[in-house]
Amino acid sequence: MTKKVCKNCNLIYEGERCPGCGSQEYSEEIKGRVIVLDPEKSEIGQKLKINKAGEYAISKTSG
Ligand SMILES: [Zn+2]
Repeated sequence: MTKKVCKNCNLIYEGERCPGCGSQEYSEEIKGRVIVLDPEKSEIGQKLKINKAGEYAISKTSG
């Protein structure tokens, strides 16, 4: 099954719509990914403004 990247929150998911925010706007391009287990304690979670645990795509690694 094709993995999708939510354009709204960057969550990587499979299925009809993003389970994180409910958006159906998605991209299939995954340049990098990060797994956030505890967004409140995760530095990258805060950087990406993630507030839900999951696997996220990152479009930029720096800058
Ligand atoms: Zn989303």
